[in-house]
Amino acid sequence: MTTHNKAQTDLIHAPRKAPQYIETIQPPLFRASTIIFKTTAHLFDRHWTDAYDYSYGTHGTPTTFTLGDNIARIEGGNYCLLAPSGLSAINLVNSTFLSTGDEVWVADNIYGPNLEHLNNLQDRYGISVKIYNPVDAASFQPTEKAKLIWLEAAGSVTLEFPDLKNLVKKAQQANVLTALDNTWGAGLAFNAFDFSDEHLAVDITVHALTKYPSGGGDILMGSVVTRDQQLHHKLYRMHAIQGISVSGDDTAQIQRSLAHMSLRYEQQAQSTRVLLEWLKQQPQFSQVLHPSSPDSAGHSFWSDICTTGKSAGLVSVIFKANYDLTAVRQFCDNLKLFKLGFSWGGPVSLAMLYDLKQMRSLGNTHLQQGLLVRFCIGLEHPEDLIQDIQNALKQLD
Ligand SMILES: *Cc1c(COP(=O)(O)O)cnc(C)c1O
Repeated sequence: MTTHNKAQTDLIHAPRKAPQYIETIQPPLFRASTIIFKTTAHLFDRHWTDAYDYSYGTHGTPTTFTLGDNIARIEGGNYCLLAPSGLSAINLVNSTFLSTGDEVWVADNIYGPNLEHLNNLQDRYGISVKIYNPVDAASFQPTEKAKLIWLEAAGSVTLEFPDLKNLVKKAQQANVLTALDNTWGAGLAFNAFDFSDEHLAVDITVHALTKYPSGGGDILMGSVVTRDQQLHHKLYRMHAIQGISVSGDDTAQIQRSLAHMSLRYEQQAQSTRVLLEWLKQQPQFSQVLHPSSPDSAGHSFWSDICTTGKSAGLVSVIFKANYDLTAVRQFCDNLKLFKLGFSWGGPVSLAMLYDLKQMRSLGNTHLQQGLLVRFCIGLEHPEDLIQDIQNALKQLD
């Protein structure tokens, strides 16, 4: 016989509940797998297409819906689904809309892991992956099998800004869904759901919340935003089937950082412009890539779409061809404030070394030969960052 330990149950069913009606700066945080139904009526009346389906943790809580609503609003859409990383959000779009026999188009400067994911689908499910040149809309030639085109503005690493207007127009004419990786613009540089006088819009945006929304370099998350309810429902269904969910704690942390996202974005963009002007003067580089630079491919598309002159805190340099891998590695290793690492949007400036020869499949006549270093500008003082690069370059001579 066990003795009746009253505390065992009392500790679980504590009589005191948190007060419901106090106002705080940050919304209350919900962590849930189980969500308790008041009655069987609530259980049977629930429906997955409800805007806020409080039935199980994977489907969402007030915490995840709050962040999702905010991301949708910032990006100009109506609906948002959260995923545990940006890449997982990309995967959600691909797995919702692509089936065997379909054709998908990706820009030559697409975020690398997205291409890797699509190549994997191509091999296993017979999905045809086609590459287009983002600054030449004529290179996008959808057949009747085309289902989806991925856009990215500006593109990864080499930062060409795409001919969004003509690519989207062409996709609409061919009945091809448009998905934009919106991580660079973060919903701040331009509105992907209305980016021209003609009210042109993409169908879907994906955002690596890991970058600017998190702002800390410490949390992974992604989002998929749509305006159209039918598209949202298709994505939502796949989201549920695949068990894609995010932690309440991570979500609350990103929600907390959203308050100052636009200030951080502006500051990092401004510091980047200061660095850009200095980098252009340095004899070691044959090219400095940034959409605001008239000699960067797609500059005129950037001016046309990002009318407020906004851009993310990213700038890439191509070293002159006489700097070999050993030299450019030495340069990266010499940096002190810039840390060597992937990602961006956090407080710490980052550098990453790329060999373009292994990354692009079309001819890149607009790019010089040479090794590329991408700088992600953090929140340090730009003059200190310049000093850091200057020191690292000096040690090469
Ligand atoms: C970082 C990034 C992603 C992926 O986000 P993760 O959260 O790191 O998976 C996708 N697209 C772009 C453009 C990115 O920079």
